[in-house]
Amino acid sequence: MTREVKLVEVEGNIEDLALELANQLDKGVTLVVRGEPSLVKELLITLRKYGANWLKVVYAPGWDDPERYLKYAKYMSIADKAPYRIKGEKKIKRRILLHRMAKASLDYMDAPIVNKECAALRYCNLCVDSCPEHAIIPEKPVRIDLNKCTECGACINSCPAGFLWPPGFTLYGLSEFLEGVDKLTAAPLPKLDQLKDGAVLRSQERSAPLILILEAESKGKKFAPLDLNLMDPYLEELESLPRGNEPPVEIKRFNNYASREASLLASMLPDKDEWIQLNHLNYFRVEVSDECTLCGACTGVCPSRALRIVKDGDELRLEFSHQQCIGCDACRQICPEKAVTIERALNPHLLRSGEFVEVTRDEIARCRGCGAPLDGTVRMMKNLEERIRKNSGDKYAELVWYCQKCKDKMLFKGLI
Ligand code: SF4
Ligand code: SF4
Repeated sequence: MTREVKLVEVEGNIEDLALELANQLDKGVTLVVRGEPSLVKELLITLRKYGANWLKVVYAPGWDDPERYLKYAKYMSIADKAPYRIKGEKKIKRRILLHRMAKASLDYMDAPIVNKECAALRYCNLCVDSCPEHAIIPEKPVRIDLNKCTECGACINSCPAGFLWPPGFTLYGLSEFLEGVDKLTAAPLPKLDQLKDGAVLRSQERSAPLILILEAESKGKKFAPLDLNLMDPYLEELESLPRGNEPPVEIKRFNNYASREASLLASMLPDKDEWIQLNHLNYFRVEVSDECTLCGACTGVCPSRALRIVKDGDELRLEFSHQQCIGCDACRQICPEKAVTIERALNPHLLRSGEFVEVTRDEIARCRGCGAPLDGTVRMMKNLEERIRKNSGDKYAELVWYCQKCKDKMLFKGLI
């Protein structure tokens, strides 16, 4: 495959231009195009009709600027990976069929692109659960079943770390695309009073702010980046949240994407320490039952450092940070005691402040011989004792309550 990049002015008859460019795209040429946004959009749609790799066409009004160009180059290397699929319902004109042959019946697949960093969230299944078409294969990183994906975009918003995004429009590309449109109603997330039915909410790129695009018009043509009716419940939930007027707050979470999203949300809520139940938004509350032995397995596996164990005198405390938690499910799955529950919930104060709150605590166990602290809590020792009793009998079970020194002494005296 060639790595050739060509610059193209979009003008004249779009159908003819698209036919010419489709052949170049077949050869692997990447096209950086410049022209009226509405014409560029028409070109992309036409190329798609022709079964051409429209993902390798990048709208670049600022192609003289090397900085921007580098971003495009990165984007193009992603678009390279998208495959074709057959779309049976396509209507094809005879003229196009003659020029493009079988390719005219193909569609260049624009299923969400998966960032391989997804593998870092070993236990997270949020996108798998969000897909109404069951098109996401739960491997790590996740894979998209191209025959099932309808490009609805639901998964993209479900990823707590922004590891999924559509190849057709990155946020950067989108903002470039929208440059020069006649009318644009766009608002960052806090301006919720502008929400309407069918609004489109996209946080399309890692480290991108949430952008709400309600409507864009260019030369009398409406621009709707993606049909996201599926996002309506998500938006309704946003609308239903209480409003506050707090100063902006900078939140540092799992990655830039999660940080910006949380910062925006925190600054639109009142600073109240109360839990609000959620159904759709990605904010989570982790609770831990009394089965917890404070073994620390969950703290070790949390990619967000949202759980920690703190020593407090003769006790250990397990603490949780609502601000840091991205709901990846790792702690729940790793817990040997099945003590963790996770639910969607939002606490404006905890989100804003980043405070850690106690979720459980227990006393540090002490040696029954000398009183020295043991390596675990009372609940852990009881648990261990119970398990050993089941397998090896009473005599050995009680030994969990003694430190190594006392056990050695007992062995010496023939007590064990
Ligand atoms: S919640 Fe489970 S994994 Fe975490 S410390 Fe408690 S027992 Fe261990
Ligand atoms: S607390 Fe649990 S769900 Fe939240 S980020 Fe950590 S491991 Fe994931």
